[in-house]
Amino acid sequence: MAQHLKHQMQLCASCSVKTKLSGLPLCPGCAGLERLIGEIVEAKANKVMAFEKYEAIIAEAQSEHQNPWEIHRTTNAQTKLSTARKTVERAYVRLSNYVDHGIVPEDLKAKALKATA
Ligand SMILES: [Zn+2]
Repeated sequence: MAQHLKHQMQLCASCSVKTKLSGLPLCPGCAGLERLIGEIVEAKANKVMAFEKYEAIIAEAQSEHQNPWEIHRTTNAQTKLSTARKTVERAYVRLSNYVDHGIVPEDLKAKALKATA
């Protein structure tokens, strides 16, 4: 059994391709996919948070008298929300490039190289 573990070839849990284990029970292709989907989930969660913050500031500004400081905070929250939205869009583009065209994002390639080095 211990000898068996030395050559850790296993079927990918997702696509059943034979793969060398590297922490995850996934082949490099599926691991990349997993990561890109994770980025979308994270970006969406950030967007929801940014939206809630924005809404809270708007509600607060509406209940009080608007002053320059409130307007500044609103603008800040607006910028953060729009950045968060762009991050979600970017995450979708990265996933679609990967799935449809097999394009691995540069930062993922760098990480994969580091992991194998
Ligand atoms: Zn796979």
